[in-house]
Amino acid sequence: MIDLHAHTSESDGSLSPVDLIKLAVESGLEALAITDHDTFAGYDQAVPAARESSLELVCGIELSTKHQLQTVHLLGYFLHGAPTLEFRNWILKLQESRKERNHELLHKLQSCGFDLNIAEATSIARSQLGRPHIAELMLAKGYVSSLQHAFDDYLGENGKCYVARQEPLLTNAVAKIIAAGGIPSLAHPGRISSDLELIEYIVHQMQQTGLCALEVYHSEHGREQIAVYESLARELRIGITGGSDFHGSSKPGVKLGTGNKGDLSIPISVLYQLRAVHRKYAFPRQEQSPPQQI
Ligand code: AMP
Ligand code: ZN
Ligand code: FE
Ligand code: FE
Repeated sequence: MIDLHAHTSESDGSLSPVDLIKLAVESGLEALAITDHDTFAGYDQAVPAARESSLELVCGIELSTKHQLQTVHLLGYFLHGAPTLEFRNWILKLQESRKERNHELLHKLQSCGFDLNIAEATSIARSQLGRPHIAELMLAKGYVSSLQHAFDDYLGENGKCYVARQEPLLTNAVAKIIAAGGIPSLAHPGRISSDLELIEYIVHQMQQTGLCALEVYHSEHGREQIAVYESLARELRIGITGGSDFHGSSKPGVKLGTGNKGDLSIPISVLYQLRAVHRKYAFPRQEQSPPQQI
């Protein structure tokens, strides 16, 4: 069994990279991808611990992108280890836009009368301060009754203090991942829309720009959805990815490997097939050249 979608405390998960590796080994996982939001810090720290175990660690990332006014999450998998310096530098730029958003958001929260500052919020987070950490701080100070309350009333898209972040276009992020030797996979399509035709349209459209995988298995996808996404991926001849989207105690219902109903079970063949997709994209000329006419 494998899990290709998990977060560490370097983004908004609760477990340190080393503890996540320990849990993956204890859970009997054969492979694990660390897919932190906008950072490779968790993956980088987990590499030595994974090397000492039988677990195969896959380098991944999850990016928030814009597609027709909607925020769409995109996963990137680097099957041969960490990506190019150029890609890492691009990620650093994304982190800058997050910092700017955080400052503006905290400023708005202060204007609303909350006693919150960037230093306090940063002390909760590690390399990536995000809205979930700010929600945690608001909860700890008794300003909200739950994390969801913080999002609904203040931090989320419909909240009073919402600040939009500069997000790269989905097409641009797909191109960047491809150029860095990675595989872009559209994350949790179930969260984008319940309209399958729309998902089909987006995937088909994005395939023209290099999208080559779809996250079929996810904690929030029901059995029927999984079947539908799987047949869509097969029909479009793109790769399949899947994972629990584990965040530790930040999302307590979701278990590593098995998801939130305990029924997620992703075979290692999914990773083997992803490798085949990678070979096809890495060496397209050999694979796609027509047979020689004699
Ligand atoms: P950030 O990357 O700082 O913009 O935070 C994004 C994260 O905040 C997402 O990955 C979710 O975990 C969480 N989040 C965003 N919107 C909501 C919402 N409306 N309700 C609950 N959690 C949310
Ligand atoms: Zn997250
Ligand atoms: Fe996501
Ligand atoms: Fe995620």
